[in-house]
Amino acid sequence: MQNLTVLGSTGSIGKSTLDVVARHPDRYRIIALTASQQDELLFEQCQQFRPHFAVLLDEAAAERLRKRIVAAGLDVEVLCGNESLVRVATLPEVHAVMAAIVGAAGMRPTLAAAEAGKKILLANKETLVLAGHLFMDAVRRSGAALLPIDSEHNAIFQSLPHDYAGNMQQSGVSKILLTASGGPFRNTPLSALQNVTPDQACAHPNWSMGRKISVDSASMMNKGLEVIEVHWLFNAAADDIQVVVHPQSVIHSMVQYVDGSVLAQLGNPDMRTPIAYALAWPERIASGVAPLDLFAIAKLDFVAPDLERFPCLALAYQALRAGGTVPALLNAANEVAVDAFLNHRIAFLDIPRLIASVMAAVPRCEVHQLQDVLDADAAARECARTWVRENTK
Ligand code: NAD
Ligand code: MG
Repeated sequence: MQNLTVLGSTGSIGKSTLDVVARHPDRYRIIALTASQQDELLFEQCQQFRPHFAVLLDEAAAERLRKRIVAAGLDVEVLCGNESLVRVATLPEVHAVMAAIVGAAGMRPTLAAAEAGKKILLANKETLVLAGHLFMDAVRRSGAALLPIDSEHNAIFQSLPHDYAGNMQQSGVSKILLTASGGPFRNTPLSALQNVTPDQACAHPNWSMGRKISVDSASMMNKGLEVIEVHWLFNAAADDIQVVVHPQSVIHSMVQYVDGSVLAQLGNPDMRTPIAYALAWPERIASGVAPLDLFAIAKLDFVAPDLERFPCLALAYQALRAGGTVPALLNAANEVAVDAFLNHRIAFLDIPRLIASVMAAVPRCEVHQLQDVLDADAAARECARTWVRENTK
């Protein structure tokens, strides 16, 4: 029996995780569930999974949940706040932590789980973008197992040698081929991009996801963050990571070897596959995902990414090459920009403008400790908020 904490259980990845868990009650037990403020859904999840702890960030929402838990006669302790997220991510009885909070907010509990040596199912890519060095060091020091949930990284993990130790050359790997759908605006005329709405940006052709990552997919910042994620997870240099636009999202990524072989992982675009893989690794379990129908798909296309259309991707490569706190600046500026776009304060094309402006304005520092990252994150957010105030539509 594997004991699990699901951070961000009410989100898209959180719900898919619980869907897989519910199929295997003999294998997994939920110890803690967490959300920011969706107490109703969290209550339903508590009824179904009977965790020991439920955490909400919002005090009023936690109070509402407490009342309902008592009324329903459930034995669930309701906690509140960021410290409680860290607590449930590091409980001694917890074996594995699904890190599925969105954004930089997910970093502290994810890092804490790594330091505590938990098996980490990593969906929160922002942790790696912000503090990749610190996080990977913590994983190595504690001996934690690290399983990537992001579908591309999960595919790369599956396509690398099983004993891959972070040295591409030694393993005969020549390139990581990171696939990208190109999002909903792959073929939208450039002149029309200025006026696209949040709902259009969130209407992803292949994947159903939370709103932040959906906008990131539309701008291809998601792929940029994923390039940085590949760098930290697999110790690949920027030049060794090739983004390949593949609109069908059937190949989830590939690894090219020096002998000319290319290994890929294929499947329907459904996050339950990488989640089930990571939960059961090194075994395989049923995920509820339909088998891939190659005859129905018939055709797979590949094109090079268009950096003029998607400047966010170029900014992310630039941030990775610059190193230090620059990826943290990129991430913070992007979070503020996406939030402003979702709230109709700036236009879609302002997202890369804002990020470039923050990267140019806030000085780069080396990352020696977590505080360096937190300072960079705060400075970039402040600078980005000023930009939004000065450029609101
Ligand atoms: P989502 O917005 O659907 O869910 C986010 C979850 O985090 C919710 O449970 C929410 O309550 C919680 N949360 C939000 N803000 C919080 C805060 N400040 N503090 C604590 N909890 C907070 O997001 P998602 O689409 O499930 O994505 C989660 C993470 O997984 C992101 O980092 C994303 O990049 C990554 N990811 C998602 C997908 C996908 O298909 N959705 C794919 C790959 C990677
Ligand atoms: Mg992905």
